[in-house]
Amino acid sequence: MIIRGGGEAHVFAMAMRTKFRGILVREGVLVQGPAGWAEFSPFWDYDPAACVPWLRAAREAAYDVWPTPVRERVPVNCTIPAVGPDQARAIVAGSAGCRTAKVKVAEPGQSEADDLARVEAVRDALGPDGRIRVDANGFWDVDTAVRMIGLLDKKAAGLEYAEQPCATVEDLARVRRQVDVPIAADESIRRAADPYRVARLGAADIAVLKVQPLGGVRAALRIAEQIGLPVVVSSALETSIGIAAGVALAAALPELPYACGLATVQMLTADVVAEPLLPVEGTLPVVRPAPHPDRLAAVAADEATRARWSERLAAVEGLA
Ligand SMILES: [Mg+2]
Repeated sequence: MIIRGGGEAHVFAMAMRTKFRGILVREGVLVQGPAGWAEFSPFWDYDPAACVPWLRAAREAAYDVWPTPVRERVPVNCTIPAVGPDQARAIVAGSAGCRTAKVKVAEPGQSEADDLARVEAVRDALGPDGRIRVDANGFWDVDTAVRMIGLLDKKAAGLEYAEQPCATVEDLARVRRQVDVPIAADESIRRAADPYRVARLGAADIAVLKVQPLGGVRAALRIAEQIGLPVVVSSALETSIGIAAGVALAAALPELPYACGLATVQMLTADVVAEPLLPVEGTLPVVRPAPHPDRLAAVAADEATRARWSERLAAVEGLA
């Protein structure tokens, strides 16, 4: 199995430390091209057509040159999954100097009290000068969003922003008109046919951009230039190979007013490089890593998983 013209494809599977985005095992494909190593790791809820941008991003990494960075390091946030307050505190304490925390809220099966307790614990652990943002992944309706953003803003003693409080662009715009906390759009950009609709409808103050679902570093940079909103670069829970592409995007942005959601390697139980892209003093370096053969071998997927990815890649390549 190859990404057309690239080297041998390495299918990986590794456990997540905590269930995140509904998944416990992260899978994907790594391939070496003439320009460097590339990652293709769409989540399984993306159908082949929706995977086409992810393949474009991998091809760019394998064959093209990323834009010239304007900074050497990128500030990053730590991410607090829908865990209890004690674990939330521990994640902040172990976050290697990250001064911004992104807290998952509105997780199905959890209560509003769980969200409030988690945010309160994060504020306690982060101290008064840290920044807290929340991400609801579109799970609130408008009224719940308005009410919960108000309550969480109070508990957090100030929220930096609320990410994707509702699912639709129209609802984001409704919420944004009713709250003082800035609104960030994530799914409304990366899963939308028209990423600029968010800006046209006044639905967000901040755009969250991810390299793989947007078709690569240069494609995401073009959106950043045209959308007219400050940008936060986030990961799609990649290995350090994919994270490096996110760092390349963040490093190329003319302005970077917010910490980026790229410190996610530690959410995986393994990585493929010798020096994983983990934050130091709250930042990640701009690098072009390559897998370490032993680490790559340690996360090699079983035959059934390899077969599934081979089939999937062929289906996506047929469309791209
Ligand atoms: Mg998000």
